[in-house]
Amino acid sequence: MAFELPTLSYAYDALEPNIDALTMEIHHGKHHNGYTTNLNNAISNTPLANQTIEEILKGLDMENKIVRNNGGGFYNHCLFWEIMSPDGGGLPSGDLANAINEAFGSFDTFKTEFAKAAATQFGSGWAWLCLQKNGSLEVCKTANQDNPLMPGISCDGIPILGIDVWEHAYYLNYQNRRPDYINAFFNVVNWSKVSELFIAGV
Ligand code: MN
Repeated sequence: MAFELPTLSYAYDALEPNIDALTMEIHHGKHHNGYTTNLNNAISNTPLANQTIEEILKGLDMENKIVRNNGGGFYNHCLFWEIMSPDGGGLPSGDLANAINEAFGSFDTFKTEFAKAAATQFGSGWAWLCLQKNGSLEVCKTANQDNPLMPGISCDGIPILGIDVWEHAYYLNYQNRRPDYINAFFNVVNWSKVSELFIAGV
């Protein structure tokens, strides 16, 4: 079954002023749509066509650049739209908040580490908060559309929060000011969704 571009649960302008409507429209309607189409074309009539996106990424032949780039792009953006919300921002609570405090000492330290990973990813890529097998949390970053589910990536675990730091994610509004975009992202993080992913993973 072919993968489908997910419908957003909020309007393109709903994350303004943190993320502008035109960026959202192009990002979802053009970039994510492109990864989805390219992924479907690449796996059509192959054994991968019967797998979930998680199965495809976990078992990926990293030399298969078309599936690596477009499968990663499909999965990463599906997660990205879900972990943002016009009602987002603020602080995590419950078990997730406890796990963040345990791993990083405080929410502020976590935020600093995550923002640093996002700001220092050279060129295109993502920064992640990942749940490890032992239940702890780690921050890491990946290049291009790689993600922590892929084999042999130094950044591993189950991604429960991710920020896209490709220029297409922020350049119209923020130009070269990537740190400003990263700060603004925290105003729209959907901590309830991140908690849900955390609880589902532990
Ligand atoms: Mn993107």
